[in-house]
Amino acid sequence: MLARSGGLAEDVIRCDCHSDRNVVPGLGYSICDDRGYLVDVLQPIIDARGEIKTAIRREKEGDNREEDRLAELEGRSGALKWILVACFGYQGFSNAKFGRIECHEAINAFAREILLKAKQRLEAGGWRVVHGIVDSIWVTPDPDIDDDARENLEALPTEIAERVPVRLEHEAHYDWVAFVPQRESAAGALTKHFGKVAGEDEFKIRGIEARQRSTPPFIENVQRDCLDRLDSTRSPDAVLDRLQEATNRLHAGQCRSMHSSSGIACQATRRIHPEYAERGGIKARSRARPRRPPRTGYRVRGCR
Ligand SMILES: [Zn+2]
Repeated sequence: MLARSGGLAEDVIRCDCHSDRNVVPGLGYSICDDRGYLVDVLQPIIDARGEIKTAIRREKEGDNREEDRLAELEGRSGALKWILVACFGYQGFSNAKFGRIECHEAINAFAREILLKAKQRLEAGGWRVVHGIVDSIWVTPDPDIDDDARENLEALPTEIAERVPVRLEHEAHYDWVAFVPQRESAAGALTKHFGKVAGEDEFKIRGIEARQRSTPPFIENVQRDCLDRLDSTRSPDAVLDRLQEATNRLHAGQCRSMHSSSGIACQATRRIHPEYAERGGIKARSRARPRRPPRTGYRVRGCR
């Protein structure tokens, strides 16, 4: 999205004809007035995805919601999204036809700027930012601000979108959401989180074992049980009890399904299964311990 709206392509960034311009925030690169050719490539994909997203919204809000149709639309939207993500990735790869690192840097610089502007505006509207990555921001009500003074989350993204070159929308309201800490620090991992969207039965999970195909059923079941427990009790202790029970069963050799459908014992298995414990050490409990209690959050999502 940003590559399109900024007209960013390797043939227009740091052009010789406008070398005196300082357009890209923090980097000072120039961008030519000419339209970059990538716009011609990306625009039809972005437009098509926009239409699909509108159809998804209509399907969700309509009276005769068809789950099959919804799944098909979401699959198509996801496919187009990944084409766009791959295009963005390849822009940072100098051997690609349209790869040029300055272009990739410029897109990131604009994304950072947009994220900061969105953060400032959301905070001014009575929200506190819990987490933010490339195209999403999670916010929670700022406890120091009265509810009466808090601005509406349906309207705020629209207002922000008028000041930045991306479409921004309020995507979901979570009962709770947890961000998995990085292994070596307390900071949130970029792509790992799980939570409960209000009114939905399924958990939203990203980047954790329960979502990976290489995960053995035993691990997946334990993780899903832990999610259920967290949802019903909001108590880290209840989750740890379940985990302790699972590791006890593992050490007692009472579980079978330790291999994924592909027959490969996954990394998590190697860490805690007795068969592997001598080599790998037992670290699962300390790594899986939630370091922060889950918080209520809202996700506001833009498109790149
Ligand atoms: Zn130029």
